[in-house]
Amino acid sequence: MEKKIAIVGAGLVGSLWAVYMAKRGYKVDVYDRRPDIRQLKIVQGKSINLALSDRGWRGLEGAGIREAIEKVALPMSGRLMHSVDGTLTYQPYGKEEQAIYSVSRGLLNQTLMQCADASPLVNLYFEHRCTDVNLKTNTIEFVEDATGQNVSRTYDHIFGTDGAFSAVRTRLTKVDRYDFSQSYLDHGYKELEIPAAADGTHQLRVDCLHIWPRGEFMMIALPNVDGSFTCTLFIPFEGKNALEHLITPEAVNDFFERHFPDARALMPELTDDFFANPNASLVMTKCYPWHYQDKVCLMGDAAHAIVPFYGQGMNAGFEDCTAMNRLLDECGDDFVKAFEAFTKERKPCGDAILELALRNYIEMRDKTGDPVFLLQKKIEGRFSAKYPEKWVPLYSQVTFSHVPYHAALRNGDEQQKIMDRIMAIPDIETLWDSEMVEQKMLQYLADEALYA
Ligand SMILES: Cc1cc2nc3c(=O)[nH]c(=O)nc-3n(C[C@H](O)[C@H](O)[C@H](O)COP(=O)(O)OP(=O)(O)OC[C@H]3O[C@@H](n4cnc5c(N)ncnc54)[C@H](O)[C@@H]3O)c2cc1C
Repeated sequence: MEKKIAIVGAGLVGSLWAVYMAKRGYKVDVYDRRPDIRQLKIVQGKSINLALSDRGWRGLEGAGIREAIEKVALPMSGRLMHSVDGTLTYQPYGKEEQAIYSVSRGLLNQTLMQCADASPLVNLYFEHRCTDVNLKTNTIEFVEDATGQNVSRTYDHIFGTDGAFSAVRTRLTKVDRYDFSQSYLDHGYKELEIPAAADGTHQLRVDCLHIWPRGEFMMIALPNVDGSFTCTLFIPFEGKNALEHLITPEAVNDFFERHFPDARALMPELTDDFFANPNASLVMTKCYPWHYQDKVCLMGDAAHAIVPFYGQGMNAGFEDCTAMNRLLDECGDDFVKAFEAFTKERKPCGDAILELALRNYIEMRDKTGDPVFLLQKKIEGRFSAKYPEKWVPLYSQVTFSHVPYHAALRNGDEQQKIMDRIMAIPDIETLWDSEMVEQKMLQYLADEALYA
C-alpha cells in the first residue's frame, strides 16, 4: 500500500524536504499555517536575507535547484569591519575562490515551494495550523485559519519542519523521558536598511558582509540584488547600550551617530524603519531524540534552533535533508532505521553548531575589531595556505566543508590551544610571518597529534 507522508511547515527546510521526498517517489502532503507566500508581493517575516554556504548549496544541489538560486545569490568573499572613525579592515573568509552568498529568504522559500509544487506527488495546504499530533494514531490536528474549522489527517510518517516553536515537537515533549530545553539570548535584533543609491547601485562594497563590531553590540549588513543592504542590529534588550533606551527618534539618531556614523549617513529612513520594525528575540532549543518510532521526525529549526551568528541555521537544516535522504538510501527506506540513524548522526551536529554559533557572536562583536585576533587569523591564514592538509581554519571547516559540526568544534578547540601558544611568543607582531613561527606551529601540531 502507498505510504502516506506529511510535512508540517513549508518554510525553507520543509519545502526542500518535500522536493527530496517527491524525488524518492513518495506522495507528500505539505502544510503551513501561513498563506501561500508565492502570492505575496513582499515576503514578510524574520530576516530578509541569509548567508548560504557549502552545506546549504549541497542540500539545494541534491534537489536539483542550485542553478535557480545561483542566479540571485550575491557572493561575499570576506568580512569588512567598520570602526567608529571610519577605518575599514577586510578579512577574507577563506581562500580566494571561496565565498558565502547573500540570498533573499522570501525568494529562496518561494523557489523551493515552486519546485515542490511542480511535482504531481506534492500537495500544498496553506493556512493550516498544526495544533497537535496524536502519536497513537499518527493523526495531525489542524485549524484552518481562514474558516476556524478543525481538520484531522492521519499519516504513516510525519516530518516536523515547523520551525523553532514547532507544534509537532511540543507533542514529543510530552512523551516520557523526552529531553527539551529552550533559552533566549539577552540580546535581540532589529532589521534596518541601507537603500540603493539613486542609480540603483550598492552604496557599500557589495562583495562583503559588513560588520560594525562595538563590543556588547554590533550591526551587520548583507547585500540584496536590488542594490540595498539589509542591516541587522544585535543589541542587549536591557543595559547601558540597549534597546530599552532606544525609544525616541532622537535617542535612535544619537545612538547611530555615535556608534555607526558612516552607516547612519546612508540610512535616510533610519528612525522610521527603527520604529516600524519589531524588536525581535533570539531563541535556542535543544531536544532529544529528534524522532518518535517511525512516526515522527523533526528537521531544521524544529530540531535545532540556534542563534544566527555563524550563518548556519538554514545551512544545518538543508544538511539535515542531505543526511536524511542518504540514510533512507542506506536503510532501504526502512523508516524505523532511518529515523533512529538520523537522531544518532545529527543530534551531535545540532548541539555543536549551537555552541559554535554562540561563540561566534562573541567573536563577531568583540574580536573582529581586536588587532590580536586579526593577527591570529593572519597567521592561521598564512599557515593554512602553505599547509592546507595540516590546517583548515575553523571558520572554513564550518562554512566551506562538510565535516560534521562536532568534528569541526573539536578540531577548532585543538587549533586554539596551538594558537594560544603561538600568540604568547614575545614580539609575535613582528615575527608573525617568520620561519620560526612556522616551525613552532609544525612542532605544536606534532605535539597535539602525539597526545591526542
Ligand atoms: C535574524 C536571523 C538571521 C539568520 N541568518 C541566517 C543565515 O545567514 N544563514 C543561515 O543558514 N541561517 C540563518 N538564520 C536561521 C534560519 O532562518 C533558520 O535556520 C531557517 O529559517 C530554518 O528553516 P526551517 O524551515 O526549519 O524553519 P522556518 O524557516 O521557521 O519555517 C517553519 C515553517 O513552519 C511554519 N509553521 C510554524 N508553525 C506551524 C504550525 N503550527 N503549523 C503549520 N505550519 C507551521 C511556518 O509558517 C514556516 O513556514 C537566521 C535566523 C535569524 C532569526
